[in-house]
Amino acid sequence: MAEPQRVRDLPEDVDTDDCMTSYTHIYSPDLLKDQVAFITGGGTGIGLRIAEVLMRHGCDTVIASRNLEKLTEAAKKLMAATGRRCLPLTIDVRQPQTISAAVDETLKELGRIDILINNAAGNFLCPAISLSFNAFKTVLEIDTLGTFNTSKVVYEKWFKDHGGAIVNISATLGYRGQALQVHAGSAKAANDAMTKHLAVEWGPSGVRVNTLAPGPISGTEGFHRLGGNIADSMGAFSSIPLQRAGNKTEMAHSVLFLASRASSYVTGHIMVADGGSWLTSANDVSMLLGYWSAELKRDK
Ligand code: NAP
Repeated sequence: MAEPQRVRDLPEDVDTDDCMTSYTHIYSPDLLKDQVAFITGGGTGIGLRIAEVLMRHGCDTVIASRNLEKLTEAAKKLMAATGRRCLPLTIDVRQPQTISAAVDETLKELGRIDILINNAAGNFLCPAISLSFNAFKTVLEIDTLGTFNTSKVVYEKWFKDHGGAIVNISATLGYRGQALQVHAGSAKAANDAMTKHLAVEWGPSGVRVNTLAPGPISGTEGFHRLGGNIADSMGAFSSIPLQRAGNKTEMAHSVLFLASRASSYVTGHIMVADGGSWLTSANDVSMLLGYWSAELKRDK
């Protein structure tokens, strides 16, 4: 039998929160020339790679989250790798006044906002019975209220009069009720509905609102916390149609499509980029519970 055809031509990536040492453009390097993107959670993981790829297409960025030290270090790396400006700003997406101050600062320093990426989130594995009321509430506050708060502030202060593109980073957890993920799955499902509501209300102002739903993405905190490395070593990814985890640059390329004029007639869309994972992956409560209790023991 012929060897199964594998998907080749993966884009470059590095597993750490560093910039890539080489990068091959798929889109025109000028695609986002002189635009400005505001990226929540842009100092780490998928958010950092999104910032880098947008900057490699001519964009300046703001990376905004709680830890200024981490953001400042990331901004230095991003500017050195791309030659574009990157402004690190402190926000907590649960507190609208911090977002408001950061958006004012962005407009003062960079003069405009063309793209908003709602990427900040909190996640961990936990069975519903062991999840505290406060933990459930916190995840909804960061993921769902945070996405609404940031979208509303950016819309009021800039997009309402100038248009723009919003890309929310979601997940596929709620599609089949992924075990140990009631908090994040519920939060992201609400965000997917919000994508459609805001696309309808803000379309007439020239604002497109879309969502990217990644599958398991290597080199991220999410992948590490949700057992991705162990799943990989156990061969669990062979059950995914594309038989591997995705990489951060692949997510950034999907965001680039949704954030740029490449998708100028697309709004209210949830784009899944998971190698087909949610269609075929096991949703095995006992296996995940076993992994969860082993991790708890290791923590102690
Ligand atoms: P990550 O590196 O942990 O990124 C989360 C970011 O959110 C951090 O930079 C964090 O920065 C920021 N953040 C957390 N709470 C915040 C708050 N209250 N206010 C402002 N910023 C806050 O995780 P990731 O794995 O790259 O995930 C990025 C996105 O992809 C998330 O939306 C996640 O749900 C989604 N996703 C990831 C995967 C995956 O395999 N990794 C799969 C599906 C979906 P501070 O600590 O500085 O605040």
